Amino acid sequence: MLRFRNTLTGELEPFEPIEEGRVRIYACGPTVWNFAHIGNFKTFVFYDVLRRYLRFRGYKVTEVMNVTDVDDRIVEQTIELKISIEELTTKYLDYFLEDMATLNIEKPEVMPKATDHIPEMVALVEKLLANGMAYEAEGSIYFRISAFEPYGKLSGKKLEGNQAGRGGRVDAQEYAKADVSDFVLWKAPKLEGERSWDSAIGAGRPGWHLECSAMSMKYLGETFDIHAGGEDLIFPHHENEIAQSEGATGKTFARYWLHSKFLNIENQKMSKRFGNFKTLRDLLENGVEPMAIRYLLLSAPYRTQLNFTADGLDAASASLERMRNFVRRVREAQSAPDGDGAGGAAAARMLEAFQAAMDDDLNTSVALAAVFSLVNEVNPMIDARKISDADREAILAAIERADGVLGVLALGEDESVPAEILELVAQRTEARRSRDFRLADEVRDRITAAGYVIEDSPDGTKVRKR
Ligand SMILES: [Zn+2]
Repeated sequence: MLRFRNTLTGELEPFEPIEEGRVRIYACGPTVWNFAHIGNFKTFVFYDVLRRYLRFRGYKVTEVMNVTDVDDRIVEQTIELKISIEELTTKYLDYFLEDMATLNIEKPEVMPKATDHIPEMVALVEKLLANGMAYEAEGSIYFRISAFEPYGKLSGKKLEGNQAGRGGRVDAQEYAKADVSDFVLWKAPKLEGERSWDSAIGAGRPGWHLECSAMSMKYLGETFDIHAGGEDLIFPHHENEIAQSEGATGKTFARYWLHSKFLNIENQKMSKRFGNFKTLRDLLENGVEPMAIRYLLLSAPYRTQLNFTADGLDAASASLERMRNFVRRVREAQSAPDGDGAGGAAAARMLEAFQAAMDDDLNTSVALAAVFSLVNEVNPMIDARKISDADREAILAAIERADGVLGVLALGEDESVPAEILELVAQRTEARRSRDFRLADEVRDRITAAGYVIEDSPDGTKVRKR
């Protein structure tokens, strides 16, 4: 049975979607004013593993990931650079989509932009004004948290004695943990050159929290299954999303709240102060393989802290290489017509263990261990030539199914070697035969430089893409 730890209750709960066979997910997406850093991508890889695993379990998935293209930082930056919001955000959204593809993160079904949903946000504010949960002050509109009794149910922040007018108001989208205050829904323009929208509730722009409430309910309904995000979003962002949404509808907003923990970089908390904010692009420029990054990011269960280190990346690369070699060996294994089926049985056990691990709140580290125990079990069978055709098919199918969730092997990729490389391999073999080892080495260097690896074995020379 699939279980998730639900931040709302703190409990490990059996997962049951509202509609049989379909899961509706809202995942807080990027703010497109900058390159996303590797800590953000830990969360985005978690979303991807979540959706892939739900599909593995037979569910149809609708995932909505918002694109925040208007907020405090974007507005400030566009004023400073004297450019439009579109100019700034279109560029960074494109970069973000590229980065997602680099890490083999599937594109969610819907990626709505905040600026395309102003009318939905205004309508939500109108509802809250009409039922007394919102009020106007100095042209802006605020959520009255004293009017929403369950406020704090996600984060545990309480409204102790904070009666209307006593707790104050905040305009900033991110504020200190101590500030349990009325927060802004609709912001009147205050800065020179600030972008605003004319509307029935006055000229202004939406607060960040409002974007997510309006867009999630538009695409997923007033109540949906899973709301996911990084742990930093629990308060105030998600707490405020609940207040706005449930305040307006009187219904449960999201049923399961899943939050991924941050990562450290080389044992240090990632922060601007330490200057260790790494973007994906920083790592790629240093020659790190994208799939090793993905592997490392998903190697720790999403709710545990990951220490992102250079050693960890090397280890991830080595693990990946072991998996790839294994797949290659299985593909090339000589068929044993009278194999005893042990290979196929090991593959079935791997899938069972993989599923049990992932059912346990997506325990990816145990799931990976299941894959490697298959590798350890089957490698000696290949050496002993005990793999039948049926074994081979079962093992490859099992690996492919697991990788449908892990997404690190790209098994569908073309592994064929181009003719000019095969030609070089033949030249090298010929040079070795005539004992011209200098020429043989030269040719091997050319093959390596072209991105291929040569392996000599008693069965002959093999070449493959590095
Ligand atoms: Zn959000």
